[in-house]
Amino acid sequence: MEILEKFWEFIFPSNIYCICCNSIIDRTRPYALCDRCVQKFHWTGKKTCQKCGKILEEGYVHDWCIDCRTMDHLFIKGFTCTRYGLYERVLMMDYKYHDKAWIGRKVGDILADRMQGEAFLPDLVVPVPIHKDREAKRGYNQVELMARQYARLAELTLDCRMLIRTKDTLPMRNLGVSERIANVQDAFSIRKGWEAKPAGKTILLIDDIYTTGSTADSCTQTLLQGGAKEVWLLTFAGGSNVIPSNSLQ
Ligand SMILES: [Zn+2]
Ligand SMILES: [Zn+2]
Repeated sequence: MEILEKFWEFIFPSNIYCICCNSIIDRTRPYALCDRCVQKFHWTGKKTCQKCGKILEEGYVHDWCIDCRTMDHLFIKGFTCTRYGLYERVLMMDYKYHDKAWIGRKVGDILADRMQGEAFLPDLVVPVPIHKDREAKRGYNQVELMARQYARLAELTLDCRMLIRTKDTLPMRNLGVSERIANVQDAFSIRKGWEAKPAGKTILLIDDIYTTGSTADSCTQTLLQGGAKEVWLLTFAGGSNVIPSNSLQ
């Protein structure tokens, strides 16, 4: 993996192009984002859902977002860095589908900065796995690359082997809440021979986008059944709530 990363650094030297809009930037720009894109991103501020970490609207009175007040989650608590808006989406699509593995390091930097000051120390950092056929086709698991950089900066132990995706699930973006849950049901398992690994561990699960939490919950269920003590969650972007805001106050 180190060699692969050096290769990408050679092909796409970091901090020359904005990772979101591809405009030329100088090397000092944090996360290799141009000033315009930094301003367009919806960075997590003070008011976030105390359960999943999504950004809450100004004036929203509850500590938990509408989704979390309606649906139970198996993970303890989630953290997100941004709201999944237009610019965040452009970045993620480019990263995921256009062979730009090197963006993972920049997103990992963002994750590390988000967790600065959080008094939370997991035993293991575990990226949400993609199915092996998909990884073979894409060449990389985008979540693993960002988790790798985050774990390196935070000096935490990374484990990309223990949790596997056994079901090649459908993309979640066009699915409703119950379809999402069904799509990832029993989609994950602990790799054969690694059954002892989760026992008693506090695990920080990493994913790129958080929407309803069904993927996170399915991974959490597998890890807890495997003996993990508790599972926390860190994602790059939190999507909008799926439950209409006027249905609950
Ligand atoms: Zn830009
Ligand atoms: Zn929430």
